[in-house]
Amino acid sequence: MSDKVLIIEDEPTIARLVTYNLSLEGYETEVVGNGAEGLHNAIHEDYAIIFLDLMLPGMNGFEVLQKLRQNGIKTPVIILTARNAEEEVVQGLKLGADDYITKPFGVAELLARTSAVLRRSRNDGEAETPRGTSGDKVLALGDLQIYPDKYEVLLNGQWISLRPKEFEVLLYLAERPGIVITRDDLMNVVWGFDYIGGQRTVDVHVSSLRKKLELNQQTVQIESIRGVGYKLIVNRKASLSGK
Ligand code: CA
Repeated sequence: MSDKVLIIEDEPTIARLVTYNLSLEGYETEVVGNGAEGLHNAIHEDYAIIFLDLMLPGMNGFEVLQKLRQNGIKTPVIILTARNAEEEVVQGLKLGADDYITKPFGVAELLARTSAVLRRSRNDGEAETPRGTSGDKVLALGDLQIYPDKYEVLLNGQWISLRPKEFEVLLYLAERPGIVITRDDLMNVVWGFDYIGGQRTVDVHVSSLRKKLELNQQTVQIESIRGVGYKLIVNRKASLSGK
């Protein structure tokens, strides 16, 4: 697989931030400042991942994404969106983006999202990825199934209704089951590093998420690590846990 990264972004500071940090991680980077040229390159060259700004001169990011997928190009795409733009994000995910990053963002979030998307796309290539009934991507942990494209969660066969931020918190924890995630990490990834609300926001969302999930016989637990953060635990079937 190519280690080249395409960055379609007309804001030089954002393009530089992405380029600089991904170069440090060993990726070869290429920046294009408009949609048409970005689309052309994305179709004709092989990239590991594409970062796509939505507000671009000429052809916007939605059109680029749509045409890319219409052309059968399956390269993972992370869209770069403005803050408070949940509708944009939902539309981008529907058009086939793999993830999104809200601007301005921190380095930790950039790298975490990049490696998560790459891991998912590499796994897709290696093995049969479990698919939902409608062919959607699904992250399955025991009886917990998360549909990243649709923001939907199935737990013990029941759909759980989550708000977007609750969903994003759950997804981030579920991609790293059993690992302690700090409040700062959740803050950065889900709200953006310059969010003004403070860590209390994280606690409120986790607490409401927990109530919704634990309605369901403790299949999923979000454990608090005092003073640090949270950890997602999925209780497998009794025969596997040995307890
Ligand atoms: Ca822009």
